[in-house]
Amino acid sequence: MTVRKILTEPNKILRKKSQNVKSVNSKIQSLMDDMLDTMYAASGIGLAAIQIGEPKRVIVLDISKEEDKKNPMFFVNPKIIWKANEDSIYEEGCLSVPNQFAEINRPKQCHVEYLDYNGKSKLLKAEGILATCIQHEMDHLEGILFIDYLSKLKKSMIIKKLSKQKKENPNRIIV
Ligand code: ZN
Repeated sequence: MTVRKILTEPNKILRKKSQNVKSVNSKIQSLMDDMLDTMYAASGIGLAAIQIGEPKRVIVLDISKEEDKKNPMFFVNPKIIWKANEDSIYEEGCLSVPNQFAEINRPKQCHVEYLDYNGKSKLLKAEGILATCIQHEMDHLEGILFIDYLSKLKKSMIIKKLSKQKKENPNRIIV
C-alpha cells in the first residue's frame, strides 16, 4: 500500500475518460489499496483512479466520520442505472481542486451497479451524501470536475488561482 501523488487542476490527465476494467485481479486490488491510503492520507472521502493518474473506472469512498469506524467502499466499472428527479445541494470540494468549494446540485438518490473489491457484482441504492459522492467520483471517470458546473467566469477564476499556486510552488504535493 502506497500513498500516491494526487493530480490537481489544471492537468490534462484529469480530463481523460477512464476505461472499463476487464477483470478485478490483484493489480486492480493493489490499485484500490493505494487509492484508499492516498485518500485517507489526504483526509478525503472519495477518490477516483484518474486522480492518481490511472485512467481506469475505479472509485474508492469512505463517508464514515469517525476515525475508528472506517468503512471503505470500492467500486469498479460503476454504472448509474437510476437517478431521482429531485436534487439535493451540497457544498463540494475535491482533492484535485485544492481549497475550492462550491454548492452543486445533483440528484438526491441514485442506484449504482458495480463490481466490488472481489469482483462480485453489486447494486447500491444511495441517497444523501453517499449519492452525491458517488456522482462526483463518477464524473471524474468522464473527465468532469465539479467546477465544470459553475459559471464560466467562476470556473476560470478558480483555474487561474490554481495555476498561480502551482507556479508559486511547483513542487507542492498534497499528501
Ligand atoms: Zn473530486
